[in-house]
Amino acid sequence: MPSHNLAHIKIDDLEIIGYSVAGEETVVAIPQLDVCFDIGKAPDQFIHINHVLLTHGHMDHAAGFAYYLSQRNFSSQSTGTILAPQNLLGPIRKIIDAWGRLDGNQIPANLVGVKPGDEYQIKPNLITRAFPTKHSKGSVGYSVIEKRKKLKPEYAQLSGPQIVELKKQGIEIDYPLEIPIVTYLGDTQYVDFSQLKYIAQSKILIAECTFYEGEHTNRAEAGKHMHIDEFAKLLNKMQNEHVIITHTTQRTPMREIRKILKAALPKEKYDKVTLFMDNRYRRS
Ligand SMILES: [Zn+2]
Ligand SMILES: [Zn+2]
Repeated sequence: MPSHNLAHIKIDDLEIIGYSVAGEETVVAIPQLDVCFDIGKAPDQFIHINHVLLTHGHMDHAAGFAYYLSQRNFSSQSTGTILAPQNLLGPIRKIIDAWGRLDGNQIPANLVGVKPGDEYQIKPNLITRAFPTKHSKGSVGYSVIEKRKKLKPEYAQLSGPQIVELKKQGIEIDYPLEIPIVTYLGDTQYVDFSQLKYIAQSKILIAECTFYEGEHTNRAEAGKHMHIDEFAKLLNKMQNEHVIITHTTQRTPMREIRKILKAALPKEKYDKVTLFMDNRYRRS
């Protein structure tokens, strides 16, 4: 039996799978890219994913990392890699060591500290890049970007042998091209993320929008989260083809959130948006 009943969204050849409710748990995996953004409680379904990208240290986003690492070890998988804000590496290491002592088994871990602007290679041609968010000290979001080389237009008409000849002469015939596939904001207050082109142009944007009701503006402010008014402002500057909303509050029923969202966004934006936990999370 899988440990979680997860939300599941398919966009072309990518699956966005996970669970995200504000204050409870957030974990969002894309198996085809071999990444898991945050790891609230480490669902069994994600243990095999090789990279966990932690945005910040809040319990509902980070509590699962030791279990994730330990389960991989237990089932003879390679050591898991965890990217996390540089300032959290010390406490993360201490938690892993403490669990190792409790458990009686050392937990192998590949820990990578990141600062905004840092890149880490996930697969050949696939990197993740960290960018700053406004939530807690050192908090970051991540974009996953495909890096390709493309033939310069001036050489497009040349034949194969001619290209080989140019290469032999040491002439640079192609230029680097970045294709931002997905951006995960994690928890954040409003920041004009459209300033970073690779975020504005990510094919998929996974964004938090925690609060929806007028009287929740102060809660958004206090918790350093986005309110629908700010989210609408942000979305109007972005060019993403698909937008997935995570981290919705438990204080507003999903059908109400849907209604407010529809009223707040222009139709062409609303049509691109999917609520991650729609049909998945019911308020009892
Ligand atoms: Zn959170
Ligand atoms: Zn948080």
